[in-house]
Amino acid sequence: MKKKRIFCSYCGAPITVKFIDEKYRDHCDNCNTTFYENPLPVASCIVINDKREVLLVQRKNDPYKNMWCLPIGFAETGESIEQAALRELKEEAGVTGEIVCIIDVDTVSNYFYGDLAIITFEVKQLSPTIKAGDDALDAKFFPLSNYPPLAWESNEKALHKFIEIYKDVWAMIDSLKVIQPAITTHHDIPREKSKQYELIASIIASLIESDIELFNLQWDSQVPKYNASHYTLLLSIHQKALETITLWLHGNRVWKNFREFSALGMQLKKEGVLLKDILSAIAISRKSIWMQVIEKNILHSPLEIYTALEINNRIILFYDKITYFIMKGYEHLI
Ligand SMILES: [Zn+2]
Repeated sequence: MKKKRIFCSYCGAPITVKFIDEKYRDHCDNCNTTFYENPLPVASCIVINDKREVLLVQRKNDPYKNMWCLPIGFAETGESIEQAALRELKEEAGVTGEIVCIIDVDTVSNYFYGDLAIITFEVKQLSPTIKAGDDALDAKFFPLSNYPPLAWESNEKALHKFIEIYKDVWAMIDSLKVIQPAITTHHDIPREKSKQYELIASIIASLIESDIELFNLQWDSQVPKYNASHYTLLLSIHQKALETITLWLHGNRVWKNFREFSALGMQLKKEGVLLKDILSAIAISRKSIWMQVIEKNILHSPLEIYTALEINNRIILFYDKITYFIMKGYEHLI
């Protein structure tokens, strides 16, 4: 249990308890010193491996001997709280790490240690192996869906918060496994907005490429029943649009492709396809992309709704250009 103060640490006189600043506090009447109690800073780490398991250490000493917890310990004078977290991780689990971000800050009143301010960081593991340190019985990874009861309630709270923060990103990574195998953990997703934009653009492009038939069916299920020859021409608008947009999303220049839309416009006019059918075929084509993006769970809150809106706006502009060039051909303006 936390030790009680009996003698003044300055003059050695016995301590009394006085009501000062709205609280009972230790006080030395001899040298008139009030002892203010401050919470002790504690640093804790959440480390996740590629299988989305969390690193826990088994406690060798009381309190909570034999129970599991996140790597955790008191910060010492002369080190930052981040340094304390990384030091504890190294001491208890033999892991070298790098701070990613703060996950949780919690203040608790503990019977054993008194008041604590526990700061939990997400830490990226840099060294490949783990090894229990001298003050731990064991160090092991546990699935996030099935880990033992934790010694500290604060650890439990921080871990829940961590799962809450990343569960959408993980769902997205899982749904993208086939088309983006390079992304295995949330660390693979860039933090800069421009990089996120490129990533999402290339994901959408890969999505279209990997299952073009699905996009054709999506389009087909939305369009009205055209006559057979018109149907083929209108479907080719959709197919050509997808082909061009895939190139463009991958970062290619596509000006030449736009001219083909004018040629297609001329052909549509020659075959007597109505303007209203052309416009609806284009609108449904554009919609088919977003139907799939939403269905595949690709855009989620952590990847910034802003990025999604920006891509959406650019795709709308892209289809506006397609419409313009088809109309140019249709009106024989080329
Ligand atoms: Zn004193």
